[in-house]
Amino acid sequence: MPNQIRIAVSKGRIYKQALPLLAQADVEPLDDPETSRKLILDTSDPDIKLVIIRATDVPAYVAYGGADMGVAGKDVLLENERLPVYEPLDLGIARCRMSVAGLPESRPLGRRMRIATKYVNSARKYFASQGLQVEIIKLYGSMELAPVLGLADAIVDLVDTGATLMANGLVEKAHIMDISSRLVVNKASMKTKHARMSQLIEDIKQAVEVEQ
Ligand code: AMP
Repeated sequence: MPNQIRIAVSKGRIYKQALPLLAQADVEPLDDPETSRKLILDTSDPDIKLVIIRATDVPAYVAYGGADMGVAGKDVLLENERLPVYEPLDLGIARCRMSVAGLPESRPLGRRMRIATKYVNSARKYFASQGLQVEIIKLYGSMELAPVLGLADAIVDLVDTGATLMANGLVEKAHIMDISSRLVVNKASMKTKHARMSQLIEDIKQAVEVEQ
């Protein structure tokens, strides 16, 4: 399918917020991934398909050409830095922050702490930048439990409203960075499908400017 463009996107928050941007670029899915079991969705443009995959898999799909472009959180991209993709646009969607959090009464962030996170790369870089040597424990979910059950002194996680931290008796101890979703692009597709890809990126860029 030399003219087909596949866009990888994950269900949920990112999908919902990416839809209006894609719609402005005249790309409207013909199915709803929340109700359909299809993983490849047709769109109003016969040459453009949406590929529904896990957020953490978007960089791999795009880097290895399973998709020509995709939408991925900066948090996920930083954990996959070695995968070669272009990152032409900050879409300004799925905004949140990456923070260190712990129990309110816990000691200040210091050396030799145990940090539980799924963001190993970002956590390691952050503590190194603070001159702190810490032990990092990789978890895949429910990070908030780790300080509560004594598995770790603190966690590195995404925070939006703060409700999840509060519900689990945790407080933010440090702000690491602001996060938003980015458009990422396969390097070969950018050459072989240059005209269509550039047009699509430009249309999405204009949609982002309208939304902001
Ligand atoms: P909140 O309770 O609103 O602070 O949301 C925090 C929870 O939602 C955490 O479990 C985060 O991992 C998740 N979360 C918040 N924002 C995002 C985002 N933009 N992308 C992915 N996960 C998020």
